[in-house]
Amino acid sequence: MQKKIIVAIDGFSSCGKSTMAKALAGEKGYVYVDTGAMYRAVSLFCIRKGLMGATTMNEEAINQSISEIKLYFKTTEDGKSEIYLNDENVENEIRTLEVANGASRVSTLAAVRRELVRQQQLMGTEKGIVMDGRDIGTVVFPEAELKIFLTASPQIRAQRRMKEMLAKGETVDFEAVLANVKERDDRDQNRAESPLRKAVDAIEIDNSNLSLAEQSKILRTLFDEKTLVH
Ligand code: C5P
Repeated sequence: MQKKIIVAIDGFSSCGKSTMAKALAGEKGYVYVDTGAMYRAVSLFCIRKGLMGATTMNEEAINQSISEIKLYFKTTEDGKSEIYLNDENVENEIRTLEVANGASRVSTLAAVRRELVRQQQLMGTEKGIVMDGRDIGTVVFPEAELKIFLTASPQIRAQRRMKEMLAKGETVDFEAVLANVKERDDRDQNRAESPLRKAVDAIEIDNSNLSLAEQSKILRTLFDEKTLVH
């Protein structure tokens, strides 16, 4: 018999957190929640409303707009979880570099974090959930039974991101992608509100030199250790 748990997966951007989280949730029949998509959707909302430019943001107006932002996830027929912003499916629109950069800035605001963390905690009340982000094991679910902190070197992450962009037909420059990875790491680690930290009880996995199969084997073993009821 297996008991239902909460799995928190945190780590830097482009580490493969969502690939890992999705695969585990699919295999175990757990709900998968991509919290980065929630911050990205808030970023898209702010860009569209003119509350955020390439380097500026109107903090006061963003704080006041939070109550106008309704977010939820829906699962497609083939099992993919997609995010809705005020009843519009924005799963594709949030995957641009502009929106990602905005998310990394909007996520520094205390009022934004407070509201999104509240919504994330509600999603986990029945357990059976795999959530990925930056503060899941430290702030959202400090009591999560299994916490993973995923890392990989900035160079490896930039290479992976470049591959994805090239596959989409985008022109990319390695140095620019690497600089962007480092810039987001820096903002995530050094912001005052819930900076990215490894929870003391999180298990660190550096996947720089791991295949997907090796990584999922490690994760499956850890999951079984936490869920098997003897
Ligand atoms: O994971 P993803 O790249 O989609 O996240 C977008 C941005 O949202 C991150 O760069 C990070 O700044 C922010 N974020 C966060 N807390 C989370 C998830 C994402 O601050 N739990």
